[in-house]
Amino acid sequence: MIRLLLLDIYVFIIALLLGSFFNVVAIRLLKKESIAFPPSHCPHCKHKLSVFDLIPVFSYLFLKGKCRYCNVRISPLYPFGELLTAASIFVVYKFVGFEFELIPALILTVLLVISVLTDIHEQLILDIVTLPMLGVLLISRIFIGSEPFWFYLAGGVVGFVLLLVIAIASRGGMGGGDIKLYAAIGVALGPWLTVMSLVLASFAGAVVGGILLLTGVVKRKQPIAFGPFIFIGTIAAYLFGSDIWHWYTSFW
Ligand SMILES: [Zn+2]
Repeated sequence: MIRLLLLDIYVFIIALLLGSFFNVVAIRLLKKESIAFPPSHCPHCKHKLSVFDLIPVFSYLFLKGKCRYCNVRISPLYPFGELLTAASIFVVYKFVGFEFELIPALILTVLLVISVLTDIHEQLILDIVTLPMLGVLLISRIFIGSEPFWFYLAGGVVGFVLLLVIAIASRGGMGGGDIKLYAAIGVALGPWLTVMSLVLASFAGAVVGGILLLTGVVKRKQPIAFGPFIFIGTIAAYLFGSDIWHWYTSFW
């Protein structure tokens, strides 16, 4: 029991560190900076950050959201991104367990989290993240999965074509980044769950978008980043897909 708890804490700490890393990756890729150089620094005063400034989430809380050196406000998107990554990795690990399936599951999770962050920051889903991850997912699906490889390949095609059709029908409401992201999601999920993830994402988007419109937080025609809803729909379909399907068909 204690050992299991310690393992959980250990995994969560690793997830937090990964969260911090992928957060920086997302932001640096958006700014077209190198991932390795320069070392972490304040984007405002350029002061190099010490180990104590880099503890995920906690540094932000201790420093009250300000740079230690120049007092400039740090965007709450930093700790948000770190927590989101850590929580997603942890939840996926808890559901999947130490199985081979954890490999494609975590690749998908990291891809989704980085896409959410770049989508919120700049309304962009970056090819430089999506395409390599799509490649790695394809390779992993040759060896890992309860279905044969062609099943996951078909999923990728379904995701790509579905989003392409939506992009054409919505005349640019959906970008090329979303299309490629859905190809990757399709490879991870296979065709059925990919369709379900899109239905769930659209439903979540419609509900939240409706609330934001009604409360006046956003105006009509103002674009809302779809990335967060893709994230929600895909994680839900991946973890609870068959449960959701059984629940839905029980009404027939
Ligand atoms: Zn600073």
